[in-house]
Formats: sequence, C-alpha cells, structure tokens
Amino acid sequence: MASLLLSRRDLDFLLHEWLDVESLTARPRFADHSRETFDAVLDLSETIAARHFAPHNKKNDTQEPRFDGERVHIIPEVEEALKVFAGAGLIGGGMDHEVGGMQLPSVVANACFAWFQAANVGTAAYPFLTIGNANLLLAHGTPGQIDTYVLPMVEGRFSGTMCLSEPQAGSSLADVRTRAEQADDGTYRLFGNKMWISGGDHELTENIVHLVLARIPGGPPGVKGLSLFIVPKVLVGADGTLGERNDVALAGLNHKMGYRGTTNTLLNFGEGAFRPGGAPGAVGFLVGEPHRGLSYMFHMMNEARIGVGLGATALGYTGYRHALDYARTRPH
Ligand SMILES: Cc1cc2nc3c(=O)[nH]c(=O)nc-3n(C[C@H](O)[C@H](O)[C@H](O)COP(=O)(O)OP(=O)(O)OC[C@H]3O[C@@H](n4cnc5c(N)ncnc54)[C@H](O)[C@@H]3O)c2cc1C
Repeated sequence: MASLLLSRRDLDFLLHEWLDVESLTARPRFADHSRETFDAVLDLSETIAARHFAPHNKKNDTQEPRFDGERVHIIPEVEEALKVFAGAGLIGGGMDHEVGGMQLPSVVANACFAWFQAANVGTAAYPFLTIGNANLLLAHGTPGQIDTYVLPMVEGRFSGTMCLSEPQAGSSLADVRTRAEQADDGTYRLFGNKMWISGGDHELTENIVHLVLARIPGGPPGVKGLSLFIVPKVLVGADGTLGERNDVALAGLNHKMGYRGTTNTLLNFGEGAFRPGGAPGAVGFLVGEPHRGLSYMFHMMNEARIGVGLGATALGYTGYRHALDYARTRPH
C-alpha cells in the first residue's frame, strides 16, 4: 500500500508533467539517467522513508536527544535509519559519479529527499547538513580536503555541520568573534563559541566535519574579514585514519519546538577541553582563500534555504494527507 507521507501522483505531476525533468537527460551530465532511473530512486526513497524514518518520528519528538555532561544520547532508531539511508547511496544522490554519487539532477535528488523530510524531519536533518557540507567542499575544497572529508561523508561514516551563529551573532554575521590564528605548519587554531549548531554533536557517525566561520587576526572588519575552516571533531591522519580528539567541546544542547530529534548545540572551540598536539586551540584547515569565507558559506546556506523550505512544504503536505485520511476513515 502506498504511504500517506506524500502523494507519488502529485510528485510525478510536478516532476514530469510540469517540469519535464526527463528532458534533462539530453544533457551530458545526466545522460546515464532516464525516467526509469528517476522513478527507481523515488520508489527507493519512499520505501526507506516509510520503513526506517516514519516509525520513530513521534519517538524522536517525545524523547529528544539528551546530554549527560559527557555523551549525547539519541534513540537508536536514528542511527539505524541513517545507516540504511547512506547504504542506499542517497547521501551522494546529486553528487558526481567520481565521488560515489548518483549524479541525479538536483530537482530529482530534492524530490527524493522530500520523502524523508515528510517522514521524519528530525532524523533527515543529519544527512541534510552532511550533503550541504559535502557540496560546499566539492565546490571550494582542495582535492585533499575532498578525499579526507567528502568521501567519508558520502559513505555515511562522517557527518557535517555549518557553524556560523554565535551567542551574540545571528543574522549579524559581521559580529562573529571566533578567531583563527595561523600555526607554524600552516594550519589554524580556532578559539570561540558557536551557538545553535544543528547536528553539532552526537555519536551517529565516526566523525563530524564542522565548517566554521572565523576571523584571521589582522583581516578586514565585518563580513569581509570572515574566513571558512574545516574543523573536524576528530583529527584525520594523512591515510584517513582517525587520530586525536580536536578541541571542539559540547557545552550543552538547546531545546526546540520542532526538529526535536536533531541535536542543536553550543560548541566551544579552543577552550582547552582537549589539547590536540599539546597546543591550545581547535585545529582548523582553511577552505579556499582567506577572507572569502562568507561567499563560500553561501553555497551551503543557499542549499539549506531551499532544503528548509522543502522540509516545511513536506511537513505541511504530509500533515494535510494524514488529516484528510483521518477525516475520511474515522467511524463517525
Ligand atoms: C532550529 C534552528 C537551527 C539552527 N541551526 C543553525 C546551524 O546549524 N548553524 C548556525 O550557524 N546557525 C543555526 N541556527 C541559528 C540561525 O542561523 C539564527 O537563528 C539566525 O541567523 C537568526 O539569528 P538570531 O536567532 O540571533 O536572530 P536575530 O538576528 O537577533 O533576529 C531577530 C529578529 O530580528 C530581525 N532582524 C535581524 N536583523 C535585522 C536587520 N538588519 N533588519 C531588520 N530586521 C532584522 C530578524 O528577521 C528576526 O525577526 C539555527 C537556529 C534555529 C532556530
């Protein structure tokens, strides 16, 4: 029986009758695809969303993540669902074949993702952030950064975050204070606090790749002085093995009215909870050029804007479908 999550007939109408997505297969990038491959990934998404995401949606909401001062506890269904999602190759749905992706058009990859947002927006937020983080690095990272961080994210071993906001800086990113001092080896050491960071801590993946906006001392004031850094929760060796814990510490979890299954965190960078290499500061790796961080971050912010809007639409629509079903099937 078809799930109540979304209407496949409506999705097909939007994708095929209105947007004519099959015409995209005339482009070299999508030449391996066809209506059949698009349909197969949509079918797979609906099945996984209904079987592995929807059943713990309510539990995710009533038993939100808990921090005991050392570890974050999350209901086990979240990790199981994310393993199935990653195992199906869906993290790389829109990414290039060469990084292990399916190279789907973005509109089709987003339509697939809507099933997960309708089923369980809290659990879906982890891969949502990971995909955005990986796409930013694919666009602006070095080949080494892509090998070290993006490939494990596509496999589902690492997850990703976006660290812009600070306790005193939300919309006003010109007020960001986190600083990044260059070390002798060319890497950076970060010091500061990031607030409201979604997916900022958990044990759902082996590692968390934080993308952090910070200031290199001496740079211009305002947003023109922001640079972007990769700050992994656990440092990664040249051969990809996990090493020392980086100095990124969870100070606490924030509670929300929605998306409650997604951890939302206050993170302290370089406050001395850990001392990687014996020196103070969280080890960070510059993405692209100094002082261009906000323009790189917009790659992920714009993707997040589309995704959050899609999530709201999926939530509203699934709510309507469930209400309609209830009205049609209630005994009186
Ligand atoms: C559920 C959730 C998840 C989040 N996840 C992340 C995350 O993963 N990473 C991250 O970095 N941040 C995250 N955030 C933080 C989010 O980016 C900020 O909440 C957002 O930038 C707004 O900042 P603020 O809350 O400080 O509000 P403020 O900036 O204080 O804004 C308050 C109000 O003032 C208005 N306002 C602000 N500036 C102006 C202006 N110049 N002119 C007119 N009106 C203005 C705003 O529209 C708003 O109505 C998250 C927030 C939430 C609620």
